[in-house]
Amino acid sequence: MTSETREQSSAAPIVIVGSGLAGYSLAREFRKLDTDTPLMLITADDGTSYSKPMLSTGFSKGKTAAELAQADAGAMAEQLQMDIRTSTRITGIDTDAHELQIGSERLPYRKLVLATGAEVITLDLSGSGAGEVLSINDLSDYQRFRERLPEAGRVVILGAGLIGCEFANDLRNGGYQVSLVAPSVQVMPGLLPDEAAGAVQDALAQEGVSLHLGTTAERIDRIGTELSVTLASGEVLTADLVVSAVGLRPRTALARAAGLSTGHGIAVNRAQETSAPDVYALGDGAEVDGLVLMYVLPLMASARALAKTLAGERTEVRWGAMPVMVKTPCCPTAVCPPLSGAEGSWESQRQGNSVKAVFRDAGGRLLGFALTGDAALEKQALTRELPPIHS
Ligand SMILES: Cc1cc2nc3c(=O)[nH]c(=O)nc-3n(C[C@H](O)[C@H](O)[C@H](O)COP(=O)(O)OP(=O)(O)OC[C@H]3O[C@@H](n4cnc5c(N)ncnc54)[C@H](O)[C@@H]3O)c2cc1C
Repeated sequence: MTSETREQSSAAPIVIVGSGLAGYSLAREFRKLDTDTPLMLITADDGTSYSKPMLSTGFSKGKTAAELAQADAGAMAEQLQMDIRTSTRITGIDTDAHELQIGSERLPYRKLVLATGAEVITLDLSGSGAGEVLSINDLSDYQRFRERLPEAGRVVILGAGLIGCEFANDLRNGGYQVSLVAPSVQVMPGLLPDEAAGAVQDALAQEGVSLHLGTTAERIDRIGTELSVTLASGEVLTADLVVSAVGLRPRTALARAAGLSTGHGIAVNRAQETSAPDVYALGDGAEVDGLVLMYVLPLMASARALAKTLAGERTEVRWGAMPVMVKTPCCPTAVCPPLSGAEGSWESQRQGNSVKAVFRDAGGRLLGFALTGDAALEKQALTRELPPIHS
């Protein structure tokens, strides 16, 4: 960095890119510690503050997109004493010059935080209706989804991960005929051991969700007012709406193009520092010390630590054990999966929809759990027994 660049960037604001839970949580935590340093948030969307987990339970609660919005960008700017630029996409980062690129515009930063989240994985589907498949990953997607949802009807959901199962339960509660299609032989593979997944599957089926596991959608055709979904198994489902919930992946293109290290996400250490000086990342887009955890609790802990760092006290995040609640009211589920590579085995007990599955190492130490139905009440006690992710 030249002395001219140093002078320019020390007068520039701290810039946060992204107005999701990560970007706004960080701004909130930072303002608790520092009310003077200029702060700017730049976001590709309209900057509305909302809680993304509400998107998959909003329908049966009768919430429109406007009702899920907590505050608009103007209110957030005032509350957090920051400039907010909405509908503005960052197109490049010059880490040497400490400048952001927005098309041909160049904007200096003192420190930069990438809170750019994750993007939906899109399926390669054929057929005349393939372009009509909806994914729901932000408030404007939710608004489109609510507008396209007919009064009553048939919805096919592609993907039986946490989000697919939550949408299935929510729409079924809202009176829709719901079919859930996924290549895995169980719901939430990778998150739930098979017995716990079996309990959720049975509960969804009892609610009337039609499960099509071990197969995939191959083509979607529009036939008059209906969509026809052809599965690899040969079965054909008829739908009014098709929702894809096949997964998300961290947005890394911007960071990669700027020469930052990336893996599954934007690579950062426990102080959320990327490979470039004065550039940080947190939230769904970040891979923290090798781990990508796309949930709210990890990003909140990261926001608290990073706020301290930005305020002058370099702080590493310490993630404790962080269970995830799956919002399937037909079978409440709490899960804290063992970290990948953990050695041990699952043991489970089942009574109806109630499953207690625990993952222990050879010495009997608890390393993970999955609880469904009434057993989910044991979540707190078991979480206390788990070792933290970062000791
Ligand atoms: C339906 C659903 C239900 C969920 N339920 C739960 C749950 O129950 N519990 C739980 O813990 N987690 C849940 N999650 C996950 C949780 O919501 C996310 O971990 C969290 O919201 C991620 O926040 P984020 O700020 O990192 O990303 P995002 O909310 O994706 O925000 C990214 C921001 O970056 C902006 N952006 C991206 N690229 C650019 C660019 N180039 N220039 C400018 N701006 C840019 C976007 O416009 C956006 O404002 C759920 C997720 C979904 C989709």
